[in-house]
Amino acid sequence: MRQKELEIPIRVNKIEVVLKRLLKSYPKYQEISDEFGRRMSGYRGEQSLRYHLTFLKEKNYTIFHNLRLPDISGEHFFEIDILLVNPAFIVIIDAKNYRGELYFDDTFNQLIQTYQDTRKSFQCPVAQINRHQFQLSKLLETFKLPTVPPIETLVVFTNPNAILDASKDFKYSHKIIKSPSFISKIELFEKRNRNKVLDKKQLQKLSKMLLKKHTPFDHDILAHYGIKEHELIKGVRCPKCDFLPMVRKHRSWSCPNCHYSSSKAYIKSLHEYILLYGNSITNRRLRDFLDIESVSTATNILSSLNLDYKGSYKDRTYILKDQDLKSEVNLL
Ligand SMILES: [Zn+2]
Repeated sequence: MRQKELEIPIRVNKIEVVLKRLLKSYPKYQEISDEFGRRMSGYRGEQSLRYHLTFLKEKNYTIFHNLRLPDISGEHFFEIDILLVNPAFIVIIDAKNYRGELYFDDTFNQLIQTYQDTRKSFQCPVAQINRHQFQLSKLLETFKLPTVPPIETLVVFTNPNAILDASKDFKYSHKIIKSPSFISKIELFEKRNRNKVLDKKQLQKLSKMLLKKHTPFDHDILAHYGIKEHELIKGVRCPKCDFLPMVRKHRSWSCPNCHYSSSKAYIKSLHEYILLYGNSITNRRLRDFLDIESVSTATNILSSLNLDYKGSYKDRTYILKDQDLKSEVNLL
């Protein structure tokens, strides 16, 4: 049973929009781009693991994708790609879709990736998953279940072409697999955890509590990276080829790259606005973000969207609705 479905996390969408509106020469561009790559790799890894999850004995497992849970300090969160819960035990799964040769270096607790003559160092995913195991067990203690089930951990490399290797003293090889070994590893966990510690009611309670504690990342992404307003590229993005900015021509926007033209081309850019700034917008903020000079053009856009608003005419704040914008995008 799936309690929480797989979808691209909002944080990944936010980072993507930031990247698309920064110049490549921006000092932190590479750092942000690397983070995006890492998070997308996790998402793609999870996507490809879905196939292997279908071989689980369905009714024995509850599956949660992308849980973001608070640790007991309440100040920090930890993110779990996939959590499997069954009456006897829990599994934390970290999915990685890394390419190339992957070498686990125990001395410095790092994962070194060699791909197309480039070497990169990542934090060791086993160290991370061990930390998550500790954080989750502490969190579960607060759920007041009669017993906290044993927590197993697994790092799954989902790219079939990845080559795994480890230093001789690396202690955690048993926690690392490639996707095809997934089910046999789960069967091993089943064999060593035969004792059912949760009944149906307690399982339901556990699921409910996990969903209640799940806190999607909803921070101000610009503040998170310290990006200043003037550092973003403003304007209307072409909904067909992604080019930024389109040019305003005869009551319409025209793309200098693919020559697509539409009077409603701004809809896609308003999605981006929501990811960067949230749902409130004013006439001035709209002009600034879409790089429109005319107050009346902005007024026309806002009234055509039929938005709810607060405040008097002059300093009116409108509320953008992501769902409504999505259905309009399909019409472009
Ligand atoms: Zn275009």
